[in-house]
Amino acid sequence: MSIQWFPGHMHLTRKAIGERVKTIDVVIEMVDARLPASSANPMLRELLEHKPNLKVLNKADLADAARTHEWLDWYNQQHNTKAVAMDGHHTAPARALIDACMALAPSRGTMDKPMRVLICGIPNVGKSTLINTMVGRRAAKAANEPGVTRQEQRFSLQDGFYLFDTPGVLWPRIIVAQSGYNLAAAGSIGRNAFDDELVALELVAYLQRHYPQALLARYPVADNVQALTAMADHVLFDEVGRKRGALLPGGRVNAQKAAEIILQDFRSGVLGRLTIETPAEFQEWLATGERL
Ligand code: GDP
Repeated sequence: MSIQWFPGHMHLTRKAIGERVKTIDVVIEMVDARLPASSANPMLRELLEHKPNLKVLNKADLADAARTHEWLDWYNQQHNTKAVAMDGHHTAPARALIDACMALAPSRGTMDKPMRVLICGIPNVGKSTLINTMVGRRAAKAANEPGVTRQEQRFSLQDGFYLFDTPGVLWPRIIVAQSGYNLAAAGSIGRNAFDDELVALELVAYLQRHYPQALLARYPVADNVQALTAMADHVLFDEVGRKRGALLPGGRVNAQKAAEIILQDFRSGVLGRLTIETPAEFQEWLATGERL
């Protein structure tokens, strides 16, 4: 397994965030609501330890609402942390972040003591989208590919309230194998970092255990949920490919094509609102999973 990893860039980003954070009052850390722990960078926790943290579970429109509640409860129990879930395209919840920052640092937000907020998150988590929604105009450059480097930018939201974009690119830090698969499934690490077939097979196996109904609704490969659950995961993967016409000449399943279909269906939300890790599962992976 090869993993995209840029220690040089990471070192610079660490330095830049370390400098920036000295003059910051609240940190908004964005994570992907479908994979909150895997889409976080543990380096931030260490750098931003003493700063109030507003955790935004973004793309909540694509995530399982019950599991989002579970994650919010989990984060809200942490010291100095407030967690909210949202779709970064929507104005009301994005603007509500201003009040949430005020509540976390009540002494700031005046002309003499402006509120300075840093938005952090891995590429593709939705930072530019949220900044644009908060600022109310097309301010931050939205990128379709993960990892487009941007200049650090400062936005004035209202008198005495400044928003700063992450200086540098905060790559995910993958500490267990399952996080790598989950990031790859969500399209949050560059293509080629992981093998599509392996990632899609892991995803299918997870969805088969936790969301068999969603799989069956999209891919009628079995008569009922029990029958789908009883299939071996690689057989299920092949049957999905066959059903969706991902075939090679001669009728064998084109595994690469099948993988792309499954990943695209997950990313776009057509498989339904799915969350591919829970707080308990992530703890379990940390305790017993393959450490990277
Ligand atoms: P950045 O790299 O963190 O700045 O991410 P972008 O703002 O460029 O967003 C990456 C992609 O995710 C874009 O296609 C956005 O439209 C999409 N996106 C951002 N926020 C949300 C959200 O809350 N829900 C959904 N469904 N898509 C989102």
